[in-house]
Amino acid sequence: MNGTNPRATARSLIPLSEPLIGGNEWKYVKDCLDTSWVSSVGKFVDRFEATFARYLKVESAVAVTSGTAALHLALLVLGVGPGDEVLTTPLTFVATTNAIIYVGAAPVFLDVDPVTWNIDPNQVEDFLKRECLVVDGVLRNKVTGRLVRTLMVVHLYGHPADLDPLLDLAERYRLDVVEDASESLGARYKGRLVGTFGRISCFSFNGNKLITTGGGGMVVSNESALGTRARFLSTQARVSEKGYYHPEIGYNYRLTNVQAAIGLAQLERIDEFLAKKRTIAAYYQSRLRALPGLTLSPEQPWAESAFWLYSIVIDPDSFGRPREEVVERLNEEDIQARAFFIANHLLPPYREYMRGGLPVAAKLSSHGINLPSSVGITEDDLARVCDAVSALAPPP
Ligand SMILES: *Cc1c(COP(=O)(O)O)cnc(C)c1O
Repeated sequence: MNGTNPRATARSLIPLSEPLIGGNEWKYVKDCLDTSWVSSVGKFVDRFEATFARYLKVESAVAVTSGTAALHLALLVLGVGPGDEVLTTPLTFVATTNAIIYVGAAPVFLDVDPVTWNIDPNQVEDFLKRECLVVDGVLRNKVTGRLVRTLMVVHLYGHPADLDPLLDLAERYRLDVVEDASESLGARYKGRLVGTFGRISCFSFNGNKLITTGGGGMVVSNESALGTRARFLSTQARVSEKGYYHPEIGYNYRLTNVQAAIGLAQLERIDEFLAKKRTIAAYYQSRLRALPGLTLSPEQPWAESAFWLYSIVIDPDSFGRPREEVVERLNEEDIQARAFFIANHLLPPYREYMRGGLPVAAKLSSHGINLPSSVGITEDDLARVCDAVSALAPPP
């Protein structure tokens, strides 16, 4: 970047979110290879689970092959199945919704809060009050007749959903709460870590998440019976004392020792990673907040965001350009900016579950952009992203 013409200098790609491998990963993986403990049993699986449970201060943590597998198991463990509906946000990675379909249940998409970008407690309350009825002691959707027993809360891009009113509604209407905390490991709601509020919660260790195992996930719960059941289902429902006896249908969802070795080394550095995310957010905030037509990643007074992906939402009229153009121009500059998830009710397999327009989710989905947020991003690269966004903004 020190040439006279920066355009002539080779620019490197600024990735959206790449892992930072630099702690004990090599050492722990070498241990797995040296001892041949490479598969789904081993000390790193145990240590990763125990360390994760201690970090969250939960009873049980079960390491699995992906965040998607974690969500699938969470719903299975709670007995969600055909004939059930799961209340959820449309604005999420599709894995959340897919897991609902895997168990044969149906998603009910409720609109999001324009500030937190997460499921809006008022929408949940309206739905429960207006569209459900208690019949023979169970809550049913008046139109579909299906049972309403589960609320799936997603904490999008690092920011917690407004949990207190959601938990209050869940208690009043006897809904089980599942947290999809895949994007928000380390985020806090009123001081307490997310993923500890639901009956059962899920995390992802995909390559672009805060900590990674390459691919992996975790199911956590404060009810050890739920953890035991998740573990059982994740190991082909095998009762090992009885040889190959499988009293029901299970899954091969166990994380391997090699992956857990990477995960443990990553988890050892979580405080450092979270601090770096805050530094990144503060940098973007200071450089972008004066630009017209941008809404920046939220942080409510009651929240401590994990700032997984720092984001901006464009108001095309005042910013002067549509979202697609902004993403394209940043990509041309080798900046891996990315459009928000497409609201799931707009995806082909889920259009049939659309109810109303879900205007807030649809709007965020069509105007939001995730900016590069890797834990290892340099200040030069942050400056490059901010310069590029500023150059697209209308002149002052
Ligand atoms: C990443 C993610 C998942 C799970 O993803 P995997 O790739 O299966 O680990 C689930 N929900 C959300 C919101 C996610 O961002």
